[in-house]
Amino acid sequence: MESTLTARDRVGVQDFVLLENYTSEAAFIENLRRRFGENLIYTYIGSVLVSVNPNKDLEIYSKAHMERYRGVSFYEISPHIYAVSDNTYRAMRTERRDQCILISGESGAGKTEASKKILQYYATTCPVTDHLSTLRDRLLQSNPVLEAFGNAKTLRNDNSSRFGKYMDVQFDFRGAPIGGHILNYLLEKSRVVHQNHGERNFHIFYQLLEGGEQDLLSKLGLERNAQKYQYLVKGCCPRVSSINDKNDWRTVRKALTVIGFHEDEVEDLLNIIASVLHLGNTQFGEGKNGENQITTETQLKYLSKLLGVDGAALREALTHKKITAKGEEMISPLSFEQAVAARDALAKAVYGRAFTWLVVKINQSLAFKDDVYNSSKGSSSVIGLLDIYGFEVFQHNSFEQFCINYCNEKLHQLFIELTLKSEQEEYEAEGITWEPVKYFDNKIICDLVEGKHKGLISILDEECLRPGEPSDISFLEKLEDTLGGHAHFVTHKLSNGKTRKAVSREEFKLIHYAGEVNYSVNGFLDKNKDLLYRNLKESDMSPLWRFDEALVRHQVKYLGLMENLRVRRAGFAYRRHYETFLQRYKSLCPGTWPNWQGRLADGVATLVQHLGYKPEEYKLGKTKIFIRFPKTLFSTEDSLEAR
Ligand code: ADP
Ligand code: MG
Repeated sequence: MESTLTARDRVGVQDFVLLENYTSEAAFIENLRRRFGENLIYTYIGSVLVSVNPNKDLEIYSKAHMERYRGVSFYEISPHIYAVSDNTYRAMRTERRDQCILISGESGAGKTEASKKILQYYATTCPVTDHLSTLRDRLLQSNPVLEAFGNAKTLRNDNSSRFGKYMDVQFDFRGAPIGGHILNYLLEKSRVVHQNHGERNFHIFYQLLEGGEQDLLSKLGLERNAQKYQYLVKGCCPRVSSINDKNDWRTVRKALTVIGFHEDEVEDLLNIIASVLHLGNTQFGEGKNGENQITTETQLKYLSKLLGVDGAALREALTHKKITAKGEEMISPLSFEQAVAARDALAKAVYGRAFTWLVVKINQSLAFKDDVYNSSKGSSSVIGLLDIYGFEVFQHNSFEQFCINYCNEKLHQLFIELTLKSEQEEYEAEGITWEPVKYFDNKIICDLVEGKHKGLISILDEECLRPGEPSDISFLEKLEDTLGGHAHFVTHKLSNGKTRKAVSREEFKLIHYAGEVNYSVNGFLDKNKDLLYRNLKESDMSPLWRFDEALVRHQVKYLGLMENLRVRRAGFAYRRHYETFLQRYKSLCPGTWPNWQGRLADGVATLVQHLGYKPEEYKLGKTKIFIRFPKTLFSTEDSLEAR
């Protein structure tokens, strides 16, 4: 067939599996850099797509681009998120099996944008009928709504998702999208009451103040000025050049309607947003008798109106607490600090619940309704999209990083199982024997963390429940007792009784498959009891307008890309159908030129022997040739269009 690849598309290798020096991180990064220099942001590792955020519009996401990737295999065309979308879709349809696309990387890497592009691809290219087009619109419109309430400007990313998201798109037997479901987790509620310098609260607050109609603002008791609100001024950046809050407000309002929110539901939602702002401006001071009381009556008035609660009850709730002593319930006054903390806790809880409710409503609107579309019952499949942080390694790592990194460790384990399993299946189908190359199986680390009784999480849970006075340090001691000596677990203690400097007394180190991380045990017990708590620390590690080598190197390491590549290379890096291969390369060997008359497999054998491949370097299957380490000849420049 005619190649759709141009010379520019072929800069470097477009699949790392074809990189000659495949164990060299420097060669890996150099390949990314060369391609990035040509605006080629995508490169494969087998079926894994590596993407470098260009932070500028590359004009590669048009409808015409989408069309180009439909029904085309990976190697025929330049790597793209659409190729992954399309391959996943076709795998779902032909294998009739659910699929999942996992998107991982550091904050600002482009995960959320990638998930939106995948969704747009399906929305544009999949078959739809009239009533399904409503669902398609709802799927697409759920994004601006979720982002308004769950995203914020951080130092790393002007539109940073402050929650994790797993989204299912359900397709019917004809491949048309018929339903969706969103699972959200770990919303960063602390942002509602506090933002670091240079960061903002969730977008919706600014959108409402900038874009809300005057009538609406008056009803909510709000002023059109973000500077007036304590919960919005901490980060000192009400405006962001890349964000147009007024326009975004309109988009979100429209999206809420498309998704099917009734006017009174929108009203409830905005009442809650406004009440959070009023809570932030609620202040406390000393009353006549030295007691702590609310000094901002207007706020209290609006709060009771917007939340629909009795003013006196709210006043009491914000300044007093209920305690039970000797079986009797008593009311005791809160100190100034306690009252401020109670107010902030209420604001976070109210916002958190509103967000949960929002997701529930969106899910109701996306739910597959079989009364509408009966015939697809029982024969639908799902494509899942997981948008999740990659390995997090900061100067100071705590429970949050431990959870995220463990999750990534599990995902890598899954990747190994799936990759090797599907490789094995193909080799079996082709009838060839396989002696795999060595790679590191991270099961040992997963067991270290999740093992029953002796795993890190079990020990933590046990310590949380233990009577007496469990503490973070007693937890660390238990870890040392139980796990000391494990090849992937390290503390400051050396076996000879001396101490190791690289790990402090409050830390343990895990040797992850992707690298070593020191975790401070401070707060582990408390945080384990409240899994919702997540206070992400952000560094200032600024937007990328260029190829930032340090940032790229860090992610190559902690996303385990070299290890990914090694697992890929554990099999045969290159494979082609005999016919395609022969057609493309027959001119390189006098014995196969101009036409091979015999069995295809014999022709291919003649050809590769002529090219100098030794018998142990390739295998001939039933329909394909497999080459373990292809020479440059078969890398991008010459062969990828050959199908
Ligand atoms: P993450 O979800 O990984 O934190 P985002 O997907 O929000 O990161 O991306 C951060 C920003 O980077 C986006 O707001 C956008 O400006 C830019 N960006 C991400 N992916 C692309 C892309 N493929 N092309 C152009 N810009 C992008
Ligand atoms: Mg994101």
